[in-house]
Parts: sequence; structure tokens; C-alpha cells
Amino acid sequence: MSDCIFCKIIAGQIPSKKVYEDELSYAFEDINPAAPTHILIIPKRHFSGLNTATAEDAAIIGHLHLVAAKLGRERKIEDGYRTVFNVGPRSGQTVFHLHLHLVGGRDLAWPPG
Ligand code: 5GP
Ligand code: ZN
Repeated sequence: MSDCIFCKIIAGQIPSKKVYEDELSYAFEDINPAAPTHILIIPKRHFSGLNTATAEDAAIIGHLHLVAAKLGRERKIEDGYRTVFNVGPRSGQTVFHLHLHLVGGRDLAWPPG
């Protein structure tokens, strides 16, 4: 999608700190990290968010989580991390290209704000 910042990051038109890439997904450091580890894991194929997902998106939604698990192991944050989809403006979603936040490396409060 031409006016999507995350599509531009995948295309290399906006710089990012890549931490992982495969044929389906791209992972990079959040520009405004909320924790020592804050990585965004996104599908290469644009779709806006979990609220528009259909059955054919099941595989990529699962894949993003498996990438998070792999990165969580590599970062040695398995004693406590969180994977989050913000869904819709009231949740704080600001970029409408599906992205899984991987947040960890510090104590995380519950419930979130
Ligand atoms: P949301 O609030 O939509 O769930 O999360 C969007 C995230 O994208 C935010 O944590 C924000 O810091 C991050 N972000 C927004 N623009 C950019 C960018 O250009 N580069 C990077 N690396 N992260 C971005
Ligand atoms: Zn996009």
C-alpha cells in the first residue's frame, strides 16, 4: 500500500533497524521503545489489523507469534515478555498495517493501561 509507513519500511524506502526477515515477515526495532526489547513484527503483505483478519490470515498471525518466540529466546527475555496487537484507535493503534509488538526486558505491569 503506497501511503503505508510499514510497507515503506519493508520496501527499504524508510530506514529501520532490522532484527529478522523471512519470506512472510519482517521484524525491526520500534523507533520509540517502551522497554529494553521492543520489536515490531509485521507481515510483508499489507493488511490493516486484527479486526479485518479472515480465515486465510490464520497462518501469518501464527507465524508472527512464532517469530516473536524465536526473538524472545535470542534476547533471553523468556522470564517475562508480552506480545501485543493494538486493535483500533481506542487501543492506541496508530499504524494501520498489522504489527505484533514484542515487549520485554523489564517488569511489566498488569493490567495494561
Ligand atoms: P501502534 O500504536 O500502532 O500499536 O504501534 C505503532 C508503533 O510503531 C509505535 O510503537 C511507534 O513507536 C512505532 N513506529 C511508528 N513509526 C515508526 C517508524 O517510522 N519506524 C519505527 N521503527 N517504528 C515506528
Ligand atoms: Zn502496509
